Amino acid sequence: MKESSPLNLYKQLPKTNCKECGEQTCMAFAAGLIDRTKKIEDCPPLLKETKYAKKLGALRSIVAPELKMIYVGTGEKQLKVGGEDIMYRHQMTFFNKPPFAYDVSDTMEEAKLVERVKKITDWKKFYIGNWERVEMIAVRSVTDDPAKFAACVKNVMENSDYPLILCSFNPAVLKAGLEVAAKTRPLIYAATQDNWKEVAQLAHDYNVPVTLSVPFDLDGLKSMVATFAGMGLTDLVLDPGTAPNGKLLQQSLLNFINLRRAAVEEAQRDICYPVMALPINAWMTTDDPVRAAYWESVLTAAFVIRGGAIMVKHSTEAYSMMPDMHLRFNIYTDPRKPVQVKAGLYKVGTPGPESPVFVTTNFALTYYTVESDIASNDIDAYIIAINTDGIGVQASVAGGQLNATKIKDAMGETGFDWKGQKYAGLVLPGMAARFSGELEDLFAGQTKIMVGPEDSGRIPGWMKDFWPPK
Ligand code: SF4
Repeated sequence: MKESSPLNLYKQLPKTNCKECGEQTCMAFAAGLIDRTKKIEDCPPLLKETKYAKKLGALRSIVAPELKMIYVGTGEKQLKVGGEDIMYRHQMTFFNKPPFAYDVSDTMEEAKLVERVKKITDWKKFYIGNWERVEMIAVRSVTDDPAKFAACVKNVMENSDYPLILCSFNPAVLKAGLEVAAKTRPLIYAATQDNWKEVAQLAHDYNVPVTLSVPFDLDGLKSMVATFAGMGLTDLVLDPGTAPNGKLLQQSLLNFINLRRAAVEEAQRDICYPVMALPINAWMTTDDPVRAAYWESVLTAAFVIRGGAIMVKHSTEAYSMMPDMHLRFNIYTDPRKPVQVKAGLYKVGTPGPESPVFVTTNFALTYYTVESDIASNDIDAYIIAINTDGIGVQASVAGGQLNATKIKDAMGETGFDWKGQKYAGLVLPGMAARFSGELEDLFAGQTKIMVGPEDSGRIPGWMKDFWPPK
């Protein structure tokens, strides 16, 4: 959606302020459409009353993302792929993080296949208040045998409810997989310049999204998109080629940028589809699994940054997965809203009357760093997270969002019983040391005000030296 003024969206709304959408006014709803906290379907009058049909059509066209959004999978695990409006995160925000699809193949023996599918499905890691997970499974046909592929797809589906990518260039193999999995709306990979007619027919017959693969030939890719669109097939993902190294890697990265630019800056509606990257191709560059996993991670990072909308990957080693999970998380958080935790008092471990209360802010990165440094050292403590609008300690001390009165009030709101503490000690972050005198006055002897380290990684050492308070 190029539109950034709620006024222009408001013109297409019923303007009755009926509140059925949960907003007080149509103008507030229009603002919600722009930041995507609301969708058109949330306005019942617009959908139901025929007199608004023209406005509805106009509004749909205005709010459609510049990069088409494709749905893969069904139910709770359904994924939105693409659907972005901007080139760079700072222009607004990205909305749909690229799913990571880890591969399995029909040459794997059953026990190994089940083990890998379960590992992919169960994998999760807590990072700054969120569980990072894998989102998809790419089932690859290596045997080129339709029966073996179908059996593999069936096995995967029995052990995971994750959306699938069915991977083969052989239409007969894809058809066998679709016979098993079509109801779950998998993405099929891929239509090529050799098989496009048969694969287009499959996408049509089974009503599933399809990947168009024309490596290193954007004109050829564009032409195939036009052919599919002409057949009424518009749930498309593009594979412009992912070279794992050399000059072609440079070309691959440029192609990703050019496709994104064509969609969101030049509004070329005939090529505005999400793009798939194959960091898994790193495994073609070396026999050394450590090097391959490392390079796969590097490629993933490079293509996430350049707008890759789905990533097909292989290594489930932590050293390969974690950097990409973190990078993706950080790029796909909304820069307009700092990542926050709920302000309030938290327990780490099993704190009691002999435990300190550490002060920090509700900026999620700060909070979870402090919590992790305390928990991983088996320290039982309380943490009071002060509402600084998600700003970290140093900036909020400078900007006034963290101050002595706010800390005193926040502790008061928790109803914390200082009298029940054997050692009453409120520990300020080292960067907020300047509030200690004022806090001593505000608490009037209720608790001892202590100054902790500037870096929460030093809390264990600080505990040895300064806790319990003398
Ligand atoms: S439901 Fe529609 S008409 Fe009613 S207030 Fe919301 S936007 Fe306006």
